[in-house]
Amino acid sequence: MDMTLQQQKAQGGASGYLTIDLAALRDNYLTLAAKAPHALTSAVVKADAYGLGADIVAPVLYDAGCRHFFVAHIDEALSLRLHIAPDAKIFVLNGLQPGNETSCSALNIIPVLNSLEQVAQWSAQAAVLGKTLPAALQIDTGMSRLGLAPYEVERLLATPAMLKGIDLACIMSHLACADEPDHEANALQLNVMRKTTEQFPGVPVCFANSGGIFLGTDYHNALMRPGIALYGGAPSAVHPNPMKPVVSLSVAVVQTRTVPAESFVGYGASLRTTAETRLATIAAGYADGLPRSLSSRGAAYFNGVRLPIAGRVSMDSITLDISALPEGTFTHGSLVEIIGPNQTLEAIAEDAGTIAYEILTRLGQRYRRRYIYPEKQAAASSTIARNL
Ligand SMILES: *Cc1c(COP(=O)(O)O)cnc(C)c1O
Repeated sequence: MDMTLQQQKAQGGASGYLTIDLAALRDNYLTLAAKAPHALTSAVVKADAYGLGADIVAPVLYDAGCRHFFVAHIDEALSLRLHIAPDAKIFVLNGLQPGNETSCSALNIIPVLNSLEQVAQWSAQAAVLGKTLPAALQIDTGMSRLGLAPYEVERLLATPAMLKGIDLACIMSHLACADEPDHEANALQLNVMRKTTEQFPGVPVCFANSGGIFLGTDYHNALMRPGIALYGGAPSAVHPNPMKPVVSLSVAVVQTRTVPAESFVGYGASLRTTAETRLATIAAGYADGLPRSLSSRGAAYFNGVRLPIAGRVSMDSITLDISALPEGTFTHGSLVEIIGPNQTLEAIAEDAGTIAYEILTRLGQRYRRRYIYPEKQAAASSTIARNL
């Protein structure tokens, strides 16, 4: 009997499993929302929901009550539109590129206007269509990345006709150091935000990313804008992580061997063993989002035992020193933990010299994905491999 690809995948045998716990995602959304009962909580689902699959993540958040979604690019907004109820508001953080006006207005996508040029472009589109179009207005409160500079805000206030045909859904800005609660930039940005938004009475204010939500009620305003904390990442660099882990990653062993002292391991012969060493090669590498900077620095885990990465990370594989495990522990196909109870996203990111955001967004499409759905949908499908 011919097996479909779907049936074959259901049999197991993948080289790596990325498990995405949508019940934890939902709980994280509700936890963040509960921090500010008077604010609305949106979800930042840019970069394919930080790599976890925006088409799957966004509807779960919608069911949890989320109605505002932020993506970075217009194309992300266009594809999200197909997977989310029509009453969901979709904002594009990088704003309006020339040529996007028609698709934005036709599909009810809300651009974040980051410059006076974009304001003019959107106002012109409203005039062409003869209707009012919604937009968010971003101001730069001190990060110098996106948004209107203070002098541009003044020009806008002095010339209200510039906003003709535009309905401001919110006025927003982004915090540069929200994960460092004691950083002076937070209060400085808050101060600029307050002074600016006072001049737009009645327009909802949207300021806090994940870290901002934990800076206190001053930062909450009308609409919050978390990303990483939804996906289990730590909102603060100094406090314990209150979020539930969403992602776990295990990778299969494809070969084990014992090598004598003085053996080279991996590309560049960067490691030379000093004693007889037991090694296991696992089936994921830098093409699977495990940075090459983990070479001889990071580790995998098995039953709580740390298995150091031995030598360079290759494109499709990594060799581990498994001398700490009893002989015969691994058989072909045994799974080691890369992200899970023994190794958080933050821990592996630190070993790689990067941040949890970068690890998460690079995990890529080569792992077999397992989505664990919240209770309500469990009857239909408890675990589903997404790539089927
Ligand atoms: C990415 C992003 C967010 C989400 O930030 P997190 O730190 O992941 O919560 C919010 N706002 C803007 C403008 C962003 O670019």
